[in-house]
Amino acid sequence: MDDVAENLERVRHEIAEACARAGRPSGEVQLIAVSKTHPADKVRLAVEGGQLVFGESRVQEAKAKIPLLAGRLRWHFIGHLQKNKIRQALPLFELIQSVDSLELAQQIDRIAQEDGLHPRVLIEVNMAGEGSKHGLPPSQATTTISQMLELPRIAIEGLMAIPPLAREPELSRPHFQALRRLRDEMERKLGLKLPQLSMGMSNDFVVAIEEGATMVRVGTGIFGAR
Ligand SMILES: *Cc1c(COP(=O)(O)O)cnc(C)c1O
Repeated sequence: MDDVAENLERVRHEIAEACARAGRPSGEVQLIAVSKTHPADKVRLAVEGGQLVFGESRVQEAKAKIPLLAGRLRWHFIGHLQKNKIRQALPLFELIQSVDSLELAQQIDRIAQEDGLHPRVLIEVNMAGEGSKHGLPPSQATTTISQMLELPRIAIEGLMAIPPLAREPELSRPHFQALRRLRDEMERKLGLKLPQLSMGMSNDFVVAIEEGATMVRVGTGIFGAR
């Protein structure tokens, strides 16, 4: 598990196989290498293996790490974004995957306006209603997103979810199916496209791809244990 380039190769192969099984072109699934807690030197091993998109969950850590790495890398924010970190986060990340409340979306919109930015975002949904996790409750997600659509600066591209930690990848499948159904229903009700579904981590990304993921967030499977 220590050879980052070899791990990447294996993960890419598994993504391609899952796409083939699901009858999807493999270009449809973007791999986000989750580099949180790992130092820049380790990220560089993945870059040498051809990986350019990375996920971070803390603004402070990302702010220190990103300048140590070449400029053509792209970064996604995948953690809970504190309101007092928005201004620092916006210029660092090409996508905020984890907008988890209307208030956060409003503040991002306001700061983006002030700073002349047009951030791309995903909306995080708490599919299983876990108290320990952030995200909109599925029952309120459509209404809340319809309110977010009035915010002129943010571009909502889809949904993200972190299902309950499961021993078996198959146990994640119903949550992935539910997220996809929720997305389809929102597209119908709101009359818009939400093309991105960010779902699936190291232990269940294959199942997520079978259920329609367009982004998988893989940390341990690439960089080893944190
Ligand atoms: C840490 C993290 C991941 C990666 O988890 P692994 O199990 O190490 O692949 C994916 N998504 C989010 C939101 C995370 O915080």
